[in-house]
Amino acid sequence: MELTLPPGRSDAQFQAALRAFEGVVGAEWVFDTDLDRTTYSDIYAVGPETAHPPSAAVAPASVEEVQAIVRLANQHRIPLWPISRGKNLGYGTAAPRLAGSVVLDLGRMRRILEVNPDLGYCVVEPGVSYFDLYEHIQANQIPLMLSVPGNAWGSVLGNALERGIGYTPMGNHTRQLCGMEVVMPDGDLVRTGMGAMDGNHAWHCFPYAFGPGLDQLFCQSNLGIVTKAGLWLMPEAETQLALSMQASEEDDIAWIVDTIAPLKRAGVISQNQFVSSWLGRLVLMGQRSDFYDGPGAIPEPRVRELLRQHDLGFWYVNIRLYGDDRITRAQADVIKEAFARHTRSTFVEEPWRKGDPFLAVDPSFGAPSAVPLAMGAWTGGRGAHLGFSPVVPPTSAHVMRQFRRSRQRIAEHDLDFYASFTIGDRHANNMNMLMFDRDDPAQIAKVRRAFDALIADAREAGYGEYRTHLDWMDPVARTFDYNDHAQMRLFERIKDALDPNGIVAPGKQGVWPAAYREHRA
Ligand code: ADP
Repeated sequence: MELTLPPGRSDAQFQAALRAFEGVVGAEWVFDTDLDRTTYSDIYAVGPETAHPPSAAVAPASVEEVQAIVRLANQHRIPLWPISRGKNLGYGTAAPRLAGSVVLDLGRMRRILEVNPDLGYCVVEPGVSYFDLYEHIQANQIPLMLSVPGNAWGSVLGNALERGIGYTPMGNHTRQLCGMEVVMPDGDLVRTGMGAMDGNHAWHCFPYAFGPGLDQLFCQSNLGIVTKAGLWLMPEAETQLALSMQASEEDDIAWIVDTIAPLKRAGVISQNQFVSSWLGRLVLMGQRSDFYDGPGAIPEPRVRELLRQHDLGFWYVNIRLYGDDRITRAQADVIKEAFARHTRSTFVEEPWRKGDPFLAVDPSFGAPSAVPLAMGAWTGGRGAHLGFSPVVPPTSAHVMRQFRRSRQRIAEHDLDFYASFTIGDRHANNMNMLMFDRDDPAQIAKVRRAFDALIADAREAGYGEYRTHLDWMDPVARTFDYNDHAQMRLFERIKDALDPNGIVAPGKQGVWPAAYREHRA
């Protein structure tokens, strides 16, 4: 990828900044060739990856090096885009929101600083991947369990900072963060919560501390660069019990949600409960062309035929219970009774005991896997996906309003429909996956139009997204419009106060520093 300079910088000024960065990290950790820029581009871009071009990347190995780079970035007026492992597929991958930013790649900071088996937490640097932490826990026989996202290719910290979700009882990843260390935009180093007291023993045990809580200020944020954080982990389950079921009709999601959500609030179901539509199963069985070869969405009669052939319902419910099997058996009885009020279908029950082989295709199991990425191959060509993910209260009324509207919109745009609801105690993340071939401009145009429409009419109905791709950060931010966008005005006052040169991740989540505000879409 050709060089796009940071806004307002000449080539000489840019080169001077890179030489200064090299003075901190060494020339081998500053990446500025065309190939390097391509490496840090958005491989799932909804259009050409040149829409969000990095100018270079720099990879510090320590907190001190991060601080030094940040100070130099201020002097040289170079915007930085921090990433942990940069596998944020569907949201921008490693690419920056503002063209010409330098990617600050924290992947070399890869130490697992602590895993506390008694209290159930770990302290990790940004570069620690789910696979790293899983292997460390297995190798040391630590009786703790991970919660992994669908694609566990990225980092533990980056996913929690982005409010990624997993499917275990600890699946609300951002809620497990407890106590951070953050390099501020001026290079200062802050520890949040109890960690603000040097040597405090409860840094990663008590998230609220003394005074305002700051951990969430650094999530989906451009107010600091997180260099380590505590994250709570769940005690390892000696046994697990999976209950799975197909529900044949699309409207079944109404009673499924009304059945699961109260069981969750009552603690009978503890996991972040994933319910997905049939395409989530089919993408793991082959490519689209194996099932249907037409250009538009798979027609309804063919869908019905496929569901019959592959013994699938419209929805797949997979409940996993963890821990002592005297308790999980009792929980299973309560769940079965609740489901039996709505369906004659019965659950398939799969017990698992420690030592049994692990189930790579099921993220609720707790082992990292990249199997769900197979969906990238669905369309053929250079396959990619984009997730439309509004949050709704977990009641049938809200879920059906959201589901019917997005299903109709996606059908209108002639795209395959793949939805899931991940049900928490008092919210559900409704993920709608739009899959496309990056080499097919007509498909890309359809996906973009569909995405714009989905955002607009979800807003109209009173729902907003929890996360989005770089291209839609400004439009989604604009839907949070109470009192003339008072929250965004507050965000930007804070941004300007903490980051007067606007060097940390300008434009992230629609928050623009004064220096680059004219770049808002
Ligand atoms: P992953 O490691 O899961 O692949 P990324 O590194 O792609 O995740 O991070 C996703 C997004 O989260 C980044 O684009 C960035 O905006 C933010 N982010 C990631 N790591 C940090 C960090 N250490 N400090 C601040 N923001 C971060």
